[in-house]
Amino acid sequence: MSIKDKLEHIKSGIPEKVTLVAVSKTKPNEALLEAYEAGQRVFGENKVQEMMEKWEALPKDIEWHMIGHLQRNKVKYMAEFVSLIHGVDSLKLLKEIDKQAQKHDRVIPCLLQIHIAEEDTKFGLDKKELEELIHSEDFKAMKNIKLVGLMGMATFTSDETQIRKEFAHLKSIFGDLKQQLPNISVLSMGMSGDYQIAIEEGSTMVRIGSSIFGSRNYS
Ligand SMILES: *Cc1c(COP(=O)(O)O)cnc(C)c1O
Repeated sequence: MSIKDKLEHIKSGIPEKVTLVAVSKTKPNEALLEAYEAGQRVFGENKVQEMMEKWEALPKDIEWHMIGHLQRNKVKYMAEFVSLIHGVDSLKLLKEIDKQAQKHDRVIPCLLQIHIAEEDTKFGLDKKELEELIHSEDFKAMKNIKLVGLMGMATFTSDETQIRKEFAHLKSIFGDLKQQLPNISVLSMGMSGDYQIAIEEGSTMVRIGSSIFGSRNYS
């Protein structure tokens, strides 16, 4: 199947209100253009340098999402153009995003990453850290970031019950947070292997790479 066909196949299987982020990391510009020509406008990258190069080379109406773990010293390179930062997992990082956004006179939408998986290799805040962050004076004072929701990654396992449980847990944290911050609307969960379960559990944004662009070669 071509990229266009795979994209259309995936889109026909997800509700219209769920945003599809086409995860294009490691893929060449031609592959992104093929998806672009099929109507895709939202792309996800996990390396700042790579995202910048693609932003410079590709059409300007693309929305670039940073989905990877982000180092503070890299924020400045994408503050001008990034549309949504998914993996924010500390107040320090949020403060840096706020500072860099201010330099460009922008408000950058952000998601806080919540740790829901069993593996401790996956980044993210726990519930207590989330509460502390949103109640801090520093957070309340930030003018150039906008917290729009949460993001999480399930354990890499074939155990569907486990994955479902983790997504349901994230959805419940999202629901609790929405009581305090009624304007949040984005729940980013689900990748190629588990997005159907994620949508059943309340995802509003799925990040799909290999099912659109084929498997990645990191060598
Ligand atoms: C790579 C990546 C994805 C996409 O993974 P696929 O399994 O290829 O769909 C989604 N989210 C994050 C955070 C990623 O790093």
